Amino acid sequence: MKNILEKYDLVVGLEIHVQLNTESKLFASDKNSFGDAPNSNVSPITLAHPGTLPKPNKSVISHAIKMGLAINCDIASYTTFDRKNYFYPDLPKGYQTTQDQHPICRGGYVDVKSGDSIKRIEFNRIHIEEDAGKSSHDAEHEGSLLDYNRAGTPLIEMVTEPVISSAEEAGNLLTEIRKIVRYINVGDGNMEQGSLRCDANISLKLKGSEQLGKRVEIKNMNSIRNVQRAINHEIERQSALLDEGKTVLQETRGFNDETGETTGQRTKEEANDYRYFPCPDLLPIQVSDEWIAEVKSALPKLPNEVLADLQKNFELSAYDAEIIADQKELSDYFYATAQQTKQYKRIANWMIGPIKSALNESNTEIQDFVVKPNLLAELIELVASDKVSFSMASTRLLPALIQSPNQTAFETAQKMELLQSDDQEELIQSIKEVIESMPDKAAAYKNGKKGLLGLFVGEVMKKSRGKANPKTANKLIAEFLEK
Ligand code: ADP
Ligand code: MG
Repeated sequence: MKNILEKYDLVVGLEIHVQLNTESKLFASDKNSFGDAPNSNVSPITLAHPGTLPKPNKSVISHAIKMGLAINCDIASYTTFDRKNYFYPDLPKGYQTTQDQHPICRGGYVDVKSGDSIKRIEFNRIHIEEDAGKSSHDAEHEGSLLDYNRAGTPLIEMVTEPVISSAEEAGNLLTEIRKIVRYINVGDGNMEQGSLRCDANISLKLKGSEQLGKRVEIKNMNSIRNVQRAINHEIERQSALLDEGKTVLQETRGFNDETGETTGQRTKEEANDYRYFPCPDLLPIQVSDEWIAEVKSALPKLPNEVLADLQKNFELSAYDAEIIADQKELSDYFYATAQQTKQYKRIANWMIGPIKSALNESNTEIQDFVVKPNLLAELIELVASDKVSFSMASTRLLPALIQSPNQTAFETAQKMELLQSDDQEELIQSIKEVIESMPDKAAAYKNGKKGLLGLFVGEVMKKSRGKANPKTANKLIAEFLEK
């Protein structure tokens, strides 16, 4: 692979389909939902019966504008729908309504990690289109089964320029797009369920050449890993052809999950002629500045902005910030906790450590976690003020609060006798006892084996059942041993 990329540049452009989570379909009031009984959300409009007229769903357009703003596109003030004509059983209308001439968004970019640096991936456009139905061919039934629930559900297609130059960049771009989709809540971004899908256009060119090579298009991959596998397989396949002086056939190929290979499906000669034309049933749409401003004002802070904010204004490390910025729900929880305590680093530590484990164990999402930000803040303050040790707080107090989150952290700690005592009398008493019980070790310490201090501290802590303040204990024990 490395040798190949010394000779050739990889060029990839992605077409990313995002299913939108609006209540109803793109041009009909049918429910837009996944997993309902087959053919239960299908009206005559969806089937384009004679005499029916489609009507654009305003929230679909708002969602598309939202995505456009999130990736820095120009939003069109005038946008139209076109028909893309082809026949397939899952397309009851005989054409797909999409946008060809005047898409809702032009341009735009997303910054992604590439090796040790950041690369700006430019987009060509975002357009709105409707999804097709779903056909299934299984052994149990004769013929094919058709479910039109998905027909007419809203999608946006995000098309990059041919500027992606590694499988890593492609993967990072998809990860970032999925993150943004979820942050701004225009879809669920679930690739396994097909609500985020990707076609990859892949070509090679001689290193440094201006001229792009012939590309293949790999259709409909349903995981980021498969997109990367397909790219890597194409690097091998296309370079072998080019090395032999052959040309790469411009064609559509499918990816086989089991073999990790791509196989030819249709070539340019057999390619469809879609005969695009403006949809006569749908009027052009004027997008006012007020509409764009309204969508913009509802846009939350984006993942990259959160990432920068957490490092700059909350002093988190890049590592911690990345974990917390990964999901909007996590960063919301962080910000809400940070309103209550300024111990930002501790909030991150708790979220990445004990809270994450607790969530994993109970298979819960942070937004459903019973220990709410105010309670975590209280817990953190107890530890920061040395009232409870971190180890007691994380291993005993947190589980207790998960059981009964309606109590305050302080009350619970008190009830469970987890409050560290600064009762010097008691502490001094146990220190004396511990030192007396180990006279040899005490003598050895005096003769220079200072490493034994930890042993004494451990014993004293054990005696206090973890309640002694370790800092005070350390200091006092050292003093006593020196005597
Ligand atoms: P078409 O109209 O034939 O679908 P587009 O210009 O819309 O072609 O491009 C579709 C996708 O293919 C875009 O993501 C674009 O970046 C990508 N693409 C175009 N040319 C190449 C190439 N030579 N190699 C890799 N990707 C390419
Ligand atoms: Mg295209």
